[in-house]
Amino acid sequence: MNKIVLPGATLGVLGSGQLGRMFAIAARRMGYRVHTFSPGIDTPTGQVADVEIDADYDDLDAIRTFARGVDVITFEFENVSTAAADAAAEIVPVRPSGHALHITQQRAREKAFLALKGFPVTPFESVASFEELTAAVGRVGLPAILKTASFGYDGKGQHRLTAPEDGEAVWALVGHQPAILERVVEFTMEFSVVAVRGLDGAFAHYGAIENRHRHHILDLSIAPARMPEASAADAIAVTRAIMEELEYVGVLCVEFFLTGDGRILVNEIAPRPHNSGHLTFDACVTSQFEQQVRAICGLPLGATTQLRPAAMANLLGDVWRQGEPRWAAALEVPDVKLHLYGKGRALPGRKMGHLTALADTTDLAVQHVLAARDVLS
Ligand code: AMP
Repeated sequence: MNKIVLPGATLGVLGSGQLGRMFAIAARRMGYRVHTFSPGIDTPTGQVADVEIDADYDDLDAIRTFARGVDVITFEFENVSTAAADAAAEIVPVRPSGHALHITQQRAREKAFLALKGFPVTPFESVASFEELTAAVGRVGLPAILKTASFGYDGKGQHRLTAPEDGEAVWALVGHQPAILERVVEFTMEFSVVAVRGLDGAFAHYGAIENRHRHHILDLSIAPARMPEASAADAIAVTRAIMEELEYVGVLCVEFFLTGDGRILVNEIAPRPHNSGHLTFDACVTSQFEQQVRAICGLPLGATTQLRPAAMANLLGDVWRQGEPRWAAALEVPDVKLHLYGKGRALPGRKMGHLTALADTTDLAVQHVLAARDVLS
């Protein structure tokens, strides 16, 4: 099933958010057709796709019908069930594979995989009962974070323990369900590596991207990351090794913590293009979305060369609190690019779009992107 999918063919996307939208824009620019599948209509991806299918991910007959209409399938939403990925794979290639999806879509499984293969991770233990949690607190140490075993994205399903007595309350907060207890890392920086692996095993990456979060949601990404080169090189090597272990095809993002002594720890893996890679759209020769198209189609990977230092700021629904944002004012800031995802309702915390600023230095790019965002509301 390793045939090359050439322009003119149809690419299927499971999921219909902003990642699918930017994937579809990259695909259509290269002459592909795009079909999207998700429960809902007029979705961010559906608005730019050729065909939008409104069906449930658990409707395997609908998945099979969808698969018959496309030449290759990818996903932009990792909580698609393995059953759905397998049903699609009976008919067309699914890239990345259902196996990679299975491991990375559940936190406990992902952590176990990383630890088993010897990748650097935060100290953690899986817990399935209150008694196990109490015992794990003794071994992992405090402060710690209890995270639901199933993802939780953007920090949802995470609760901090600072004293042993917190155990009971926190166990109730995760809903008495399987979880992992993780030691809190005193990091000096969070960063990510967005990388791509082709059908022939070729590898390309965008270097280390510095990330700042607010209320557990990505707020700002800066490239290149302002960190020691040796630590960035370690992270790239770890990312490549993870992709090889998974026999991965497509774009993947590994999120890391950098500690005071230059060590790196994997926080989590996203089996798809990632929010921290959005700046590649404007700042790099080939964006992460075009790489996803190239990789899943079996084409050569593109150059990841970064043309200028860049910073990306997310636009959450909160930006609309005082009415329509002042787009024209933001666009007066030099070399700022606006991306909006076509989402109807601007709810607080909802990712509605982002701004990317390009400049001669990363510090200037950060200044410009923040100035542009500040002027919006
Ligand atoms: P996650 O959903 O696991 O990526 O967590 C969201 C954010 O919570 C991370 O980007 C960190 O800012 C913070 N966080 C998660 N795990 C830890 C940890 N073990 N130590 C310190 N901060 C953490």
